[in-house]
Amino acid sequence: MTSHENVQAASTLDAALAELDLVDRLRLVEGLGGRAVFTTSLGIEDQVITAAIGLSNVAIHVATLETGRLFKETLDLIAETEERFDVTIARYYPEQDDIDAYAAKYGLNGFYESVEARHACCHVRKLVPLAKALEGATVWITGLRRSQSGNRATTPFAEYDAERNLIKVNPLADWSLDDINAYVSAEAVPINPLHARGYPSIGCEPCTRAIKPGEPERAGRWWWENDEKRECGLHVPEAAVPSLNSSSL
Ligand code: SF4
Repeated sequence: MTSHENVQAASTLDAALAELDLVDRLRLVEGLGGRAVFTTSLGIEDQVITAAIGLSNVAIHVATLETGRLFKETLDLIAETEERFDVTIARYYPEQDDIDAYAAKYGLNGFYESVEARHACCHVRKLVPLAKALEGATVWITGLRRSQSGNRATTPFAEYDAERNLIKVNPLADWSLDDINAYVSAEAVPINPLHARGYPSIGCEPCTRAIKPGEPERAGRWWWENDEKRECGLHVPEAAVPSLNSSSL
């Protein structure tokens, strides 16, 4: 399809998804054919989608980006979730050469020192594995919600991702946190114990802290960066990444 046709197809899908509940949204995606990949960070929204996939048996590939810097609680939750819902969560890892090149240039924890270094780390540990997870995919499913943060307020149900040449589907776009919590309770979905300790949004351990009462849900992510649009490049265009002299970058 041409780029224009892909945009049109995503718009049509967006309108159709808006009328459906979560399981039927996933079934509609399944019915499109092609390879549909759901990437989970094991956050509470993603746990809802994994549960719905497992409980409804839809043919959607579930993948996670195992950055090498995740909380132990997150790693434990991967195994628990696979067993609870009889799903396989495929792990995609960074390239060791990339990690070595990053550490040589910035230091292992150089991401605290500059936005450039932080983006370079997210590129190595998240964007490169994501590209591997999405190889051959025609649809990419995420757990984005509009009420998570200001820059996610206009998240559609479906949009054409021109950079990756696929349709990106966000089946929880219109869900509130209360909706999420109600589903988790109704289906006894296992969730990361860190949520109960003040972590509504959980990423890599060195880059996530608990939030204070009243703070936005994602305030604990890259908290040292004074920027309302803090993201890792998965869901917004990636910032320019300097060369690390690594073959896979
Ligand atoms: Fe690196 Fe932090 Fe990004 Fe994880 S969240 S990839 S540790 S900069």
